[in-house]
Amino acid sequence: MDKTNRLYEGKAKIVYETTDPDLLIVEYKDSATAFDGKKKGIIENKGVYNNRMSTIFFEYLEGRGLKTHYVKTLSDREMLVKRLKILPIEVVVRNIAAGSLAKRLGLEEGTPLRSTVLEFYYKSDALGDPMINEDHIRAVGLAEPEQVREVERQALAINGYLGEFLAPRNVDLIDFKLEFGTHHGQVLLGDEISPDTCRFWDRTTKEKLDKDRFRRDLGGAEEAYQEVLRRVTTIGAGGR
Ligand code: UDP
Repeated sequence: MDKTNRLYEGKAKIVYETTDPDLLIVEYKDSATAFDGKKKGIIENKGVYNNRMSTIFFEYLEGRGLKTHYVKTLSDREMLVKRLKILPIEVVVRNIAAGSLAKRLGLEEGTPLRSTVLEFYYKSDALGDPMINEDHIRAVGLAEPEQVREVERQALAINGYLGEFLAPRNVDLIDFKLEFGTHHGQVLLGDEISPDTCRFWDRTTKEKLDKDRFRRDLGGAEEAYQEVLRRVTTIGAGGR
């Protein structure tokens, strides 16, 4: 499959068209940004780690019956995916309070939530991705009500499956962000699943193994990504 036009360059990935109009190639970069792009840096080899981790998670979810944009991994940094019309909505799923939720509700980070929280954000760099609810999505026409129901169903199923996968690897899934799109009318999971888009904490020590190491200048970001990759590639239980 050959790359043709560069379609889009984002903060962490470049997307290329291919000779097949239904397929795109995603190239994972090492660049990292935070706080709406105000903080910029490089996490060495992040692109390679995120491509591998996303591959493992997409293949695992496909095996559980979820439909994703993943087709196959082409190289260290390149993944072949189905072309999606991305819904302009980010879906955040939370199991434990952290980040913006902890701040907004005045909770200590690490406080368990009594039930899973699902949030929607409107994908708009100009507006700083404001939080929205289903009424806003319907009123503004960002997605059809059936698409929203499908996105919710898949996001909650993904939360369950990822949690089951990570627990025996001694990783707590604190929260994560998903993006969905349509491909010939079908709602598919897109984007990536990696420490850029998920909060992963060591179950025992509560050490952060994700992009918060970069966001908060904690150091050891590359080592943390490498450690998550090691645990998710460890077959069977016992990540330590
Ligand atoms: N997240 C993301 N992209 C964003 C915003 C959030 O991937 O633009 C992820 C983030 O890594 C975390 C979850 O979504 O796993 C919830 O993030 P939160 O709302 O707490 O915002 P943050 O504290 O990251 O600004």
